[in-house]
Amino acid sequence: MGTKGKAIVGIRINDLIKLLNSALADEWQAYYQYWIGAKVIKGPMKEAAIAELLQHAADELRHAEMVSGRIIQLGGTPVLTPVEWAKVSNCGYDAPKDPFIKKVLQQNIKGEQCAIEVYNQIVKLTKDKDLVTFNMAVQIMTDEVEHEEDLQALLEDFETMKRSFK
Ligand code: FE
Ligand code: FE
Ligand code: MG
Repeated sequence: MGTKGKAIVGIRINDLIKLLNSALADEWQAYYQYWIGAKVIKGPMKEAAIAELLQHAADELRHAEMVSGRIIQLGGTPVLTPVEWAKVSNCGYDAPKDPFIKKVLQQNIKGEQCAIEVYNQIVKLTKDKDLVTFNMAVQIMTDEVEHEEDLQALLEDFETMKRSFK
């Protein structure tokens, strides 16, 4: 990273790189959880859910690009092997072993809620200290908030539909 670009970062760069690597691991796991969820999901309304899951998968991959780019800018090394994801991630990985739509949506909602917390922490930590990372974290957090809402709306539609058949 450029020397001036590094000098203006007001927190310990190694600590920040560690946090960003955990977020990067979360993004890859979220990407795969959505991607594989879209393949295996079953149940009513699954077409609408698949479209949403694939959109979100693409967003998570874009987040991984953003976070890894910032890690490299800061002079760090992004996690290099998938095995590391499980070790350093904040949110973990929830395999869609039960492919029923309700279960898959609930698992992904849980993941989004964790991601919102993670980026909210990074936002708070970098505010006034590292505006480049701050700006990136705000952008990503905005997407995660939208993701949570999209999934909760789908779940609500699903429950409403189920009730209408009773
Ligand atoms: Fe994300
Ligand atoms: Fe998300
Ligand atoms: Mg969406």
